[in-house]
Amino acid sequence: QAESGVSHVAAYTEDINPYSERRLTLMTELRRAIHEDALSLHFQPQVRVSSGEVCGFEVLLRWTHPEHGFIPPDEFIPMAEQTGLIKPLTQWVLDRSLAFCRAMQDSGVRVRMSVNISAINLQERAFAENISHLLDEHGVEPGQLILEVTETATMINPQAALTALRVLYDAGIRLAIDDFGTGYSSLSYIRKLPVHEIKIDRSFVMEMDSNRDDATIVRTTINMCHDLGFEVVAEGVESNDTCELLRSMSCDIMQGFYLARPMPDDRVGPWLYDYRD
Ligand code: C2E
Ligand code: CA
Ligand code: CA
Ligand code: CA
Repeated sequence: QAESGVSHVAAYTEDINPYSERRLTLMTELRRAIHEDALSLHFQPQVRVSSGEVCGFEVLLRWTHPEHGFIPPDEFIPMAEQTGLIKPLTQWVLDRSLAFCRAMQDSGVRVRMSVNISAINLQERAFAENISHLLDEHGVEPGQLILEVTETATMINPQAALTALRVLYDAGIRLAIDDFGTGYSSLSYIRKLPVHEIKIDRSFVMEMDSNRDDATIVRTTINMCHDLGFEVVAEGVESNDTCELLRSMSCDIMQGFYLARPMPDDRVGPWLYDYRD
């Protein structure tokens, strides 16, 4: 399924004009997809390294286009950001994620949901207010929602981002810096941000079991983050050796294909059942 749309996607990638006809068509279709529920969410487990307990799920958006097939989020999210469509899109993702969080809670499973947000969302006027409203509506506690924002996103308009993060933080929502290590920021910049956790980018984690430099970067980042009071999430865990390494480095939370691939909502219950067995 994931492979079927690749050739079409390449065509979109080569097309750098954000207002080309093809892109506009795709955006019109994306807008319709939101309203017609043609989008779906996949959930990837996050596991506490020390206990092996499932503590939450990262929410990942999926779009299966009627003609082009699977279009990866890396392709359509940037377009949605350029056209402003990211605002309703993020609202949709938040609404569905909180509904799922609530449904799981009602079935006796209390987990956190990590939702990806864009720089543009941080500049929306009533963003925090809208989220608080959604939390109330679904009866989910703010501490069960984690918003993941990339370090680059916080640097586009640093003052606005800082203010927005502060409001969200004060509302009790958890905040994570995503893809840490890939941008131009540093821990000295990050430490001034009101955030709870740091996600080390998967490019450092995926091969840390065979690459000593990667392992050194991950270990050093974990130690510095802990000294600064952040929880650390390692994403892109693809082997048991990496799990063991992360354990020896006292990493807090891990996520990756070795534990589980992102899955549709109806797979989550059965997966949890198998995992705990
Ligand atoms: P991300 O936030 O870094 O999300 C993690 C990506 O890593 C996901 O790709 C996931 O499938 C993949 N991944 C997880 N474990 C492993 C692993 O062990 N190995 C490897 N190689 N990859 C792994 P995905 O789902 O294709 O998403 C790509 C990006 O699209 C995300 O990167 C995020 O930046 C963006 N994205 C996805 N959903 C949303 C959304 O709802 N809103 C926004 N704003 N962005 C989203
Ligand atoms: Ca993420
Ligand atoms: Ca990431
Ligand atoms: Ca990444």
